[in-house]
Amino acid sequence: MTARVLVVDDLEPNVKLLEAKLRAEYFDVLGAYSGEEAIKLAVAEQPDIILLDVMMPGMDGFETCRRLKEAPETMHIPVVMVTALDQQADRVSGLEAGADDFLTKPVEDLALFARVRSLTRLKMMTDELRARHATGQGLGVVDNIDVETNGSESRLLIIDDNEDQSERLKKSLGTDQLVSIELDPEVALNRARSGDFDMIVVNMSLEAMDPLRLCSSIRSFEETRLTPILAVVRQGDTRKLVRALDIGVNDYISRPVDKNELTARVSTQLRRMRYVDQLRSSFQASLEMAVTDQLTGLYNRRYLASHLSAMFDRAYWTERPLSVMIIDIDHFKKINDTHGHDAGDKVIKEFAESISRSLRGIDLACRYGGEEFLVAMPDTDMAFASVVAERLRAEIESTKFIVNSGRDEISVTVSIGIGSTENGPNEDAPQKLIKRADEALYEAKNGGRNRVIKSAA
Ligand code: GH3
Ligand code: MG
Ligand code: MG
Repeated sequence: MTARVLVVDDLEPNVKLLEAKLRAEYFDVLGAYSGEEAIKLAVAEQPDIILLDVMMPGMDGFETCRRLKEAPETMHIPVVMVTALDQQADRVSGLEAGADDFLTKPVEDLALFARVRSLTRLKMMTDELRARHATGQGLGVVDNIDVETNGSESRLLIIDDNEDQSERLKKSLGTDQLVSIELDPEVALNRARSGDFDMIVVNMSLEAMDPLRLCSSIRSFEETRLTPILAVVRQGDTRKLVRALDIGVNDYISRPVDKNELTARVSTQLRRMRYVDQLRSSFQASLEMAVTDQLTGLYNRRYLASHLSAMFDRAYWTERPLSVMIIDIDHFKKINDTHGHDAGDKVIKEFAESISRSLRGIDLACRYGGEEFLVAMPDTDMAFASVVAERLRAEIESTKFIVNSGRDEISVTVSIGIGSTENGPNEDAPQKLIKRADEALYEAKNGGRNRVIKSAA
């Protein structure tokens, strides 16, 4: 994995030093010598991570970080602040400015590479979601993300077999969050999987279980795969920290734990998680909207186009038949003309429900046109498809559609054409199958409507 790193420092030798170290690890490196230049480059070049010096003349690192994190074009880029002194107060100011982590000068190689790797990996996941979200917005079906919708209380789980220490940690977290403690790591793992926690805090000095194994288990289970993990490490235990970051721990804090730093790190992680959650759920919603017909809830034509060929291939490889029926409501224009467009909509909607009810889970129903529907039925030959179609036709004929708040009662009939792959699917194509069903439908209409016609072989 190669990543683009933007190194920002007012002193050229510092930039050159980090640049050389990172280049040796095959990272792509850009340099900037002031806050202003850093912001410009970040917007234009979209690096994967920014290493930002704290002490710079003019706009200092904190202010630069704040501006980067405020701008929509750069807010998703992780920022690591590089400080000359390991000052607690600096860390908290940095976190409050939105920094994702810190490195102390002189920068230790191991810590540097681990941090760059872990933050760029996290960013890759967010990037993918951001890209999908942008597609959804392009289609006009997704809303903007509002990261600041805090509202509900977050649930945290502390996993620590040292009782005093875990109680102290809980106290440091204050009362903004709902904090649970679990002393037994095995039990904790089960609680984490069933507990719907927003974040898990793991003491990396656990004795009852290898803490690295615990973190990797949390990462591997479906239920906790994406839950942020904050590792509490002994000051100076770089080796363990590096491994924890490589396993997929999101963030860490050194012991003795500073209350302000802890609060800042926890809120950064929670904010990021909420952002990712929103991206993901809005994408899901956009995906559903993009392939679903709004009136009936059935799939739309766009989905059919992409899905029917897969169904077709499967039928071919498994040597099973595939049938398609096209259903069209008879004299629908008259329904609109007589009872109004809303009444027409209601008939379409209820008719779609009848279709859904009469199908199996593997069948695919879509709204093919205004009052025209297509149903693809895998593993179904012409004879069986005719039975399904005839049953649906008879059901519609005997159903009274109640519209206009109960004032009108409408009788509706449908015509259905069926096509099947029985006669040599290998030479067929989805379009040809649909064409045959369409021709059969045309015949049904010409023959007097309210009937099912099978396509000729
Ligand atoms: P046929 O028996 O030959 O199918 O006659 P028909 O009147 O059903 O067919 P035609 O294709 O001539 O007209 C279909 C009508 O369906 C025209 C259109 O205004 C109406 N329609 C299409 N989509 C909708 C919709 O979403 N809601 C309503 N209410 N009407 C629709
Ligand atoms: Mg019609
Ligand atoms: Mg029509």
